[in-house]
Amino acid sequence: MSEIRFDDRVAIVTGAGGGLGRAHALELARRGAKIVVNDLGGSRDGSGGSSDAAQAVVKEIEALGGQAIANGSSVSDVDGVKRMIDDTMAKWGRIDILIANAGILRDRSFSKMSVEDIDLVLAVHLRGSFLPIHAAWDIMKAQNYGRIVVTTSSTGLYGNFGQANYGAAKLGVVGMMNTLKIEGAKNDIKINAVCPIAATRMTEDIMSEQMLDALKPEYVTPGVLNLVKEDAPTGMILSAGAGAFSMARIVETAGVFVGQGEALTVEAVAAKWDQITDVNTTRPAFKSGGEHGQNIFASVAAAAA
Ligand code: NAD
Repeated sequence: MSEIRFDDRVAIVTGAGGGLGRAHALELARRGAKIVVNDLGGSRDGSGGSSDAAQAVVKEIEALGGQAIANGSSVSDVDGVKRMIDDTMAKWGRIDILIANAGILRDRSFSKMSVEDIDLVLAVHLRGSFLPIHAAWDIMKAQNYGRIVVTTSSTGLYGNFGQANYGAAKLGVVGMMNTLKIEGAKNDIKINAVCPIAATRMTEDIMSEQMLDALKPEYVTPGVLNLVKEDAPTGMILSAGAGAFSMARIVETAGVFVGQGEALTVEAVAAKWDQITDVNTTRPAFKSGGEHGQNIFASVAAAAA
């Protein structure tokens, strides 16, 4: 297979001062892309900040012979994000790739979780994905080209103790992707989600030495670059970690038409429960909410026929 290149593509990677974002930025740069290295440089819980982390990665890219600029804006700050987009356009005149990767943790069991814990986590992950994508969107539309990745998590897809705030934010970005894949289609804007697992400062205290070694951030990046290449898929959730890759999907069982009017009682639904929840009938994932609705009407029509 020929080498997959990103020559002259302009890529913004948020939260690229360390961990996964840094690995994505370096590999895109190695393959010819010009990089905006965004990072607020705060601590793992979102406190503090300095542009040193982003600057250090810019230096690494320059040492590889690549081109990069640093940006120390918070992804949840409207003015800061606007400055990042304006600076990118002033420097390179286009935005081809946007990887929304910045993130923080505020883990606590649900009884102990404060309103601030959810506000902050939603601000960085959900608003912090929305703002850069929104600011770049019309530029990508005008170019008739855009490749976007949002970063979800197995916590959002499946749950994890102590991460109700994080899980809400992480499934939120999947919901946003599901609509943007539809809105972006006619302008060749493709958007996907990566569900990574990697040894970074986010996971350093919950993994053994051996696990940390197997889970290098660099082992996620080749999957992410497949989501932003020219012939990328769209609307896909790619699980990636330790060099293993798979596709996650939200699926439904075939379902049952129970009835309408007097036939539709709580007991009638209870009587069909085994059929409603029979995982052996799981059907392929729907491509849109509209297709999902049509399927319901089709099952009603089939029952009436
Ligand atoms: P990390 O802490 O090493 O990297 C996150 C980066 O985001 C940091 O450099 C941080 O300074 C930056 N950041 C935080 N808030 C910011 C803000 N407001 N504006 C700009 N930058 C900000 O962690 P990581 O593991 O590399 O995480 C990267 C992404 O992957 C996150 O979205 C995380 O939720 C997600 N993720 C990671 C794992 C994993 O196993 N490491 C699993 C699932 C999802």
